[in-house]
Amino acid sequence: MPRYEYRCRPCDDTFEVSRPMAQSSDPATCPAGHEDTVKLLSTVAVGGSAASAAPAAAPAGGGGGGCCGGGCCG
Ligand SMILES: [Zn+2]
Repeated sequence: MPRYEYRCRPCDDTFEVSRPMAQSSDPATCPAGHEDTVKLLSTVAVGGSAASAAPAAAPAGGGGGGCCGGGCCG
């Protein structure tokens, strides 16, 4: 299961959440219970070999379409 990194604005800190890709764009609550969080795209650790089999396509969320894929629609 991939892990996503989020940043909590009230805490001014980052935290990681393991969740299915289908829920990658859902809001994340920080360990302290804050809901004012933003998803960071820099750290997405995928376990297994599925990622290495995929070619390096255009990155999602880079401003060239694929907004939902970048999790910026929510
Ligand atoms: Zn917080």
